Amino acid sequence: MTELSIKMWQHNACMDFSCVICGRLHQQSCAAVSVVDEELSEGDTTETVGDICPDCLAAGAEHVQERAHKHAEEWRTWANAIDALGEGLAGVDWPTVQEWEAFEDKVQADIRLE
Ligand SMILES: [Zn+2]
Repeated sequence: MTELSIKMWQHNACMDFSCVICGRLHQQSCAAVSVVDEELSEGDTTETVGDICPDCLAAGAEHVQERAHKHAEEWRTWANAIDALGEGLAGVDWPTVQEWEAFEDKVQADIRLE
């Protein structure tokens, strides 16, 4: 089992991050709270698994398993939908890249005429 810890640290990317626990996007300033893989971290190199959102922090460690499980269920639902998509498309009439490029040329020509 991987040894994990939680680390608060300063980084230089102030942007939206997806929470590693619940999957929700959150605006993150330069102060991050991350899950760290201690086995893969060495010396000054910290191996982060992902960042934790304020909602998961507020929910507390006692709810991390249920929040992660809900996130995993969402991925399983998506994975099943993608599998069904692949199965549903098997045998469907499939255009070639050349047909698509010809269609793109036609669309572009039609747009220029308007
Ligand atoms: Zn979260």
